[in-house]
Amino acid sequence: MASKVYFIKASINDGEQVISEKARKLFKAGSFAECFKENDFTAVKVHVGEGSNNTYTKAPCIKGLVDELIALKTKPFVTDTTTLYVGRRHNAIDHTALAIEHGFNLDVLGIPFVVPDGLLGTSETPVDIDGEIDKQVFIASGIVHSQSLLSVAHLTGHVAACLGATLKTLGMGCASKRGKLKQHAALNLGIGDECTRCGVCYEHCPADAITLDDVKAHIDEDKCIGCAECMAACRFGAVICNWGEEDEVLQKSIAEHALGVMKGKENRVACFNFLMSVTKDCDCFSEPDMDKIVDDIGIAASRDPVALDKATLDLMEKKAGKKLADLIGNDKLDPRYQIEHAERIGLGSSSYELIEVR
Ligand code: SF4
Ligand code: SF4
Repeated sequence: MASKVYFIKASINDGEQVISEKARKLFKAGSFAECFKENDFTAVKVHVGEGSNNTYTKAPCIKGLVDELIALKTKPFVTDTTTLYVGRRHNAIDHTALAIEHGFNLDVLGIPFVVPDGLLGTSETPVDIDGEIDKQVFIASGIVHSQSLLSVAHLTGHVAACLGATLKTLGMGCASKRGKLKQHAALNLGIGDECTRCGVCYEHCPADAITLDDVKAHIDEDKCIGCAECMAACRFGAVICNWGEEDEVLQKSIAEHALGVMKGKENRVACFNFLMSVTKDCDCFSEPDMDKIVDDIGIAASRDPVALDKATLDLMEKKAGKKLADLIGNDKLDPRYQIEHAERIGLGSSSYELIEVR
């Protein structure tokens, strides 16, 4: 059966207030209020951008959505997990400071920013799923413990997953560090020159995979179980990611983690994709003024993350007259892996009815 996807035209030139009102219009048109109940802990999942990035979806653009949640008397909090890579979102302290700086705060939104995977990205809850790759995924506890979820995704390309939209926001963006590491199966950890040989990672490693020589720590790949404890524990940013070639497995794992996020929240998740300032790379890049790969399109929303991402991809490729892989300049990537796999494991339907709201 086709899932309903609501869509409204919008451009960054409309200004933040008009964009916010358009998102609110979609919320009402799709009766998304039915997803939320009084006193729910409601996670409003966003990407707060990286240091110099200025193309992420700005806080005032989601004010209308947040106001709807406040009016419904839920307990909403704006949220984003810590990252694997070392940057301003690597731990909760730096991440919270950045979120506040970028306007995801009480003054602008009227709700607090809370990091859902704790100080170091290790506050997680294992969730059992019936996936093809995984039977258990690791989700940020603050997400699992929330009764409802409003997912706000900014459409972008992605260097490995090809498409960054709702499935990636849920699967990667709501996972703990260990969950993220699990998704990046082709990634190996290494120790950089920043290592001070303090030994903290060695003490935390549950697999005896770390040794210390006279200069620095080393990780034995064969022993490493990918728990991410060393990344979380190192205060010097010395545990680094050696990104490998990945595409299909990463995308499938993203879909399976999204399944874990949605588990127990059936009919309690509303997903919004902002199809504006669409860039080749994701918002984790700390680059100002990244080139847009397609003109602004609008905002799309659905309760079905699979239908929403399929509709989003179709809208984008129609607008551009090109495939996403060509837009980002890597024809080896295919964004359909994540959508098709998500449908196969029961996360939703790629068949959709697009309802335009004016
Ligand atoms: S915790 Fe960091 S700095 Fe300390 S030994 Fe491990 S990698 Fe080196
Ligand atoms: S990821 Fe876990 S198992 Fe691997 S080296 Fe780090 S602490 Fe040890």
